[in-house]
Amino acid sequence: MDSGPPSSSSAGNTDHSDGSSIHDHGTGSLLEAAGIASVWMHADGTITDANDAFVSLTGYSRSELRGTAFSTLVEDDLPSLESLVADDATSPVSTNLSIRTSAETRRSIEIHLERLETDGDESRIVGLVNRRATPTESVSSSEFTYGRTFQALADALPDGIIVLDTNSDIQYANPAVERILGYPPGELVGSNKVTIIPPRLRQAHIDALQQYLETGERTINWTYVELPGQHKAGHEIPLGISLNEFWFDDNRYFVGLFRDISPRKEAEQTLRAKVSQLESIAYLGRHALENRDTDALLENATELVAAALDLECCVVYDAETNSTDDAFRVRSHVGCDDAVLETEIQRSSTDSLPDATLAAGEPIVVESFETDSRVPDSTALTTHGIRSGIGVPIGPTTDSPGVLVVYGTTEREFADHDVDFLESAATIIATAIERQAYERRLNDTVAELEVSNERLEQFAYAASHDMQEPLRMVSSYLQLLERRYTDELDSDGKEFIEFAVDGAERMRDMIDGLLEYSRIDSKGAPLEPVDLDAVLEDVLTDLQVMIDQSDAEITAASLPEVRGDAGQLRQLFQNLLSNALEYSGDDRPRVHIDAERTGPMWTLSVHDEGIGIDPEDTTQIFQVFQRLHSRAEYAGTGIGLALCQRIVERHGGEIWVDSRPGEGSTFSFTLQPAETAQRDR
Ligand code: ADP
Repeated sequence: MDSGPPSSSSAGNTDHSDGSSIHDHGTGSLLEAAGIASVWMHADGTITDANDAFVSLTGYSRSELRGTAFSTLVEDDLPSLESLVADDATSPVSTNLSIRTSAETRRSIEIHLERLETDGDESRIVGLVNRRATPTESVSSSEFTYGRTFQALADALPDGIIVLDTNSDIQYANPAVERILGYPPGELVGSNKVTIIPPRLRQAHIDALQQYLETGERTINWTYVELPGQHKAGHEIPLGISLNEFWFDDNRYFVGLFRDISPRKEAEQTLRAKVSQLESIAYLGRHALENRDTDALLENATELVAAALDLECCVVYDAETNSTDDAFRVRSHVGCDDAVLETEIQRSSTDSLPDATLAAGEPIVVESFETDSRVPDSTALTTHGIRSGIGVPIGPTTDSPGVLVVYGTTEREFADHDVDFLESAATIIATAIERQAYERRLNDTVAELEVSNERLEQFAYAASHDMQEPLRMVSSYLQLLERRYTDELDSDGKEFIEFAVDGAERMRDMIDGLLEYSRIDSKGAPLEPVDLDAVLEDVLTDLQVMIDQSDAEITAASLPEVRGDAGQLRQLFQNLLSNALEYSGDDRPRVHIDAERTGPMWTLSVHDEGIGIDPEDTTQIFQVFQRLHSRAEYAGTGIGLALCQRIVERHGGEIWVDSRPGEGSTFSFTLQPAETAQRDR
């Protein structure tokens, strides 16, 4: 063979002295990718392998090269390689040579020769060619350094690097590829890239590559794209990928740098789950606050909980049940098989998840019913397809009204935040159930109170009404006595009769007051707009005599329209004004009536400059028959302010007094404006 290297006994033999191909060395593909023609030799110069770049440089096939002595390729007389590359050489030896190619042309090259460290006894030599170099140029060493730097980087990088040709055949893979996708680089190099692409995406990849090669159009963002890779074990790994291309010897190559983004994806997934769970809790909380319908809340809660945990079935079990066979009642549920629910509520299935949860008094998380010993009798559940679940007590552990349970049809790991979420949902449910029970109790109490109040009113009315008759009898017989026997009575007798008449009159006044008091609620007129200016005018007319007698000065601000019973409001003003005149002390009475809008109500006030009241007595004066003075000092029955309070309360307001002895008093009360919507009272 005059145009090729002299054949040798091992020419064409693909076996190598160390039993490996250069493609087993990441270095070979790397050098290829970096565009460096390389040849591997025994120490005596017999070629064991060469990369594609060296094959195309020389024009000989790889099989022709293998087994051939390197010196036969060289025009010049080459000193023996062994002498060129001494044993102790630590840096490459560079030499300029003229290579004879298969096409009988000459090529000047600069070659770096370096002894390789091998595990066996036999040493090997690698030759790296800088064929573009002219004898005067010395860029070769930087190119060599570049290759080495690239390899060091590629080895150290936690990200995967692969180099592909236009057929998608993998030319190089760095060690990180094995950590990410499970394939040792040697296994990938030479195979097709589609191996590491999930089957469902392979055709799309091939089409996209074809399109790019034909039109230059990129279907994905080469700077950064997220796509799944196919792990050797068969599962997918989410990857963040950056792509680039380069040319070598008129061939196009693609380089891909990729990173396993599963931790980030998992964190995102967890974050998404947490956000969705928090949103559900916020929604449920709002719903519970705004909505009084507990059943609707429970329905909503089971739906939201199942969705937020991505589970099929969610149940609220009630621990109270009327059945002797059942330990629980299903209060609300979503997505659950009836057979599962029936199994779980039965008293006989003592190891049901709600039962175990109540017994534990804390959340029970079952990742697999097959293996979890806390719910040993779970065959009934597993036969109905239930594999996992969580139970949390609703409400305080000591007095739990029920259990919130989710079931899954696959075995599954639950995160702490899943359990926290369920506990929060259970707390909201507990609050709603508690509120419902409380409202029920409250309504019952209100109903009972109304009945008892009505009875009391009837009693007070009947008693005072019926007492009038004997009282009238006492009064008339006293008057008869006085008239008929006045001449026969001595002064003591007359005085005693006077006391008795006076007592009977007082009693009549008190009975009248009591009757009036008992009728405020039951005999009042409906509340409607009332002009208080008009009311005051009427009252002042009624009190004219008293005003004149005391020479009182009464002033008033303009008063509003309120919602009320005109008759009762008239009585209210009359009582307060007559008190203001009555308890004015020695000076000329000066009374002022004022009105002020305070929030949704009107506050009316009657201010006097009279004797005042001790702050300690300001509560008791509103009670029936409570007086601070003797009848000798001030006339009265002590029912006036009690009536005022009853009237104001019937109008939905409050009454109070601000006063100090000797500094006058201000009686204030609130009333609803006329425009207030009607409420049942
Ligand atoms: P009566 O006036 O018939 O005694 P009330 O219920 O109207 O009954 O008043 C209760 C008590 O409150 C009065 O006895 C009086 O001591 C005190 N009182 C009421 N109004 C005033 C006032 N304007 N100034 C001082 N004390 C008052």
